[in-house]
Amino acid sequence: MISLIIPCYNEEESIPYFIKEMNKVMDKMNEKFELIFVNDGSKDRTLELLKDISKNDKRVKYISFSRNFGKEAAMLAGLEACRGDYIAIMDADLQDPPEYLIEMYKGIVEEGYDCVGLRRTSRKGEPVIRSFFARCYYKLINKISDVKVVDGARDFRLMTRQMVDSILRLHENNRYSKGIFSWVGYNVKYLEYKNVERVAGTTKWSFFKLFKYSIDSIVGFSTFPLVISAIIGILLMFISFVMFIVLLFGKSSLFGIITLMLFLSGMNMLFIGIVGIYISKMHIELHNRPKYIVKEHNIK
Ligand code: UDP
Ligand code: MG
Repeated sequence: MISLIIPCYNEEESIPYFIKEMNKVMDKMNEKFELIFVNDGSKDRTLELLKDISKNDKRVKYISFSRNFGKEAAMLAGLEACRGDYIAIMDADLQDPPEYLIEMYKGIVEEGYDCVGLRRTSRKGEPVIRSFFARCYYKLINKISDVKVVDGARDFRLMTRQMVDSILRLHENNRYSKGIFSWVGYNVKYLEYKNVERVAGTTKWSFFKLFKYSIDSIVGFSTFPLVISAIIGILLMFISFVMFIVLLFGKSSLFGIITLMLFLSGMNMLFIGIVGIYISKMHIELHNRPKYIVKEHNIK
C-alpha cells in the first residue's frame, strides 16, 4: 500500500483540485492507496470538506489538530499514523505534481532507491530577494552543518517503510524535516522539475516565518555559530592586546576607544544572543511537550 500524507492549513479551495488530480494518478498506478489529510488547525471549512470526502471514499482519512501546530508537526502526525509500505508527503496546493508519484514509485521498486524526491531547478515566479536569500541559506547550511540539504528539494518525496521508521526514531521537538530526511541517510534520488504555482489560495509562509525556520534549522543541525563566537572572541582578545601596546606608546584617542567599546559590547550581545538561542532550544526540548494534539480523526 502507498500512504500519502497531506498537511492542510486553510486549503478548502485547493483540496477539490488535489483530489481530482490525485484520482487520475491513482487510477493509472493500480496500487492500494491511503490518503491521510492532516488538518493543521484550519480556520476555514477544510475539516468539514475532508469529512465529506472521507464518507464517500474509504481511502481518505483525516487527522485534525486542536490548533495550528505547523507543517512539521502535521507531517510527523501523518508519518506516525500511516500504514503503507511506501509513504509520500505532498502539499495540498498541487505544487507537488501528483503525476511524479509514478516515476518516484518506479525509482524505488525498479531502481532500488530508498527515497525519490523532487528538486526544482528554477525559482521562477519567486521574488528576487527571496531567491537570493534562499540560495545564501543553502550555501550556509551545507557549509556549517553535518547534514547536506539539497537546494530546491521539496518535502515531496516517496520513501520506503524502513526509511520512515528511521525518521520516526528522531524525537526532537525542534523538527526540521529537510535536515532529518538527510540525516537518516539511505539512497536518495532526485527528479528535477520546474516550479509550479499553487493552484488556489495563498502561501502560508511570510518572509519572517522563513527566516525563523532557517535559524531553527541551523540551530538544529549545527553548532558552528557557537564555535565561531568563541573563535572571534579569541581573535578580539589578541587584537586588544596589540592595541593595548599601541595605545601605551602612542597618543590615546578617546573617540577611538569609545567606538571600539561600542563595537565590542555589540559583539558581546550578539554572541550572548547566539548562546541564548541554543539554550532556548534546549529549554523547549526539556519541556518535551507533545508535538501536536489531535482533536479528532477517523483512523482505525
Ligand atoms: N501547511 C500546514 N501548516 C502550516 C502551514 C502550511 O499544514 O502551518 C501546509 C499547507 O496547507 C500546504 C503545505 O503545508 O499543504 C505547504 O504550504 P504552502 O503552500 O503555504 O507553502 P509553500 O508551498 O508556499 O512553501
Ligand atoms: Mg505551496
